[in-house]
Amino acid sequence: MKKLLGLVVSIVFLLTLSIPSFAQAATQKLIQPVNDAYITAGFLNAKYEQKFGFKHYGWDLTSSTSSRTVWASGKGTVLAAGYDNILGNTVIVKYPDAYIHATGSTKDLIFRYHHLASIGVSKGASVTKDTSLGKYGNTGKYSTGAHLHFEIDTDTTYYQYSPTLGSSSNIIKAGSSSTILSPKKVLYTKVSSPDSQQIWVLGDGYQSSTEADLPLLK
Ligand SMILES: [Zn+2]
Repeated sequence: MKKLLGLVVSIVFLLTLSIPSFAQAATQKLIQPVNDAYITAGFLNAKYEQKFGFKHYGWDLTSSTSSRTVWASGKGTVLAAGYDNILGNTVIVKYPDAYIHATGSTKDLIFRYHHLASIGVSKGASVTKDTSLGKYGNTGKYSTGAHLHFEIDTDTTYYQYSPTLGSSSNIIKAGSSSTILSPKKVLYTKVSSPDSQQIWVLGDGYQSSTEADLPLLK
């Protein structure tokens, strides 16, 4: 009996040892979606809310170059792509097993991109960091100049629900804010070529001075 117990303990021990190799899916580090980026409006910025009367659940980015390309942030799948009647040309991408450097956890993340001038992907497409999702622009009802607005959500089931909308549109539905993450907690700046990314804060103070301090990825 004692021998049998020993054997069972050994088997359980071996099984426990082998579990991490199954559970450890390849995590990925997601990079910023515009290569030479200015943050013109930051996450939940108080001055922004005061000026415009609503909370800002993402980042607004423009480029310091003439390129308006919006790149995918890593390996993912396009869940939706099309014209939203309020938020303009919209792409939604799911990035599995994304590392959240601020907390050290790994989650599947949803990125919603809005106001695009053009869309370069269709629903169901696989993307990598080298996939152009389109060009940022000024489409939709409330955009006041060409920029990329994007937001990050941990809710992969109701991925089309956003706290940015008070009432639902055709693609994006009015949602809650509890699952939204600040891009600063997630994104990396990929400094090596061919991406050679940089990021700064620029503008009227609708962002914190440290908001562009992302960890670097070689
Ligand atoms: Zn915005």
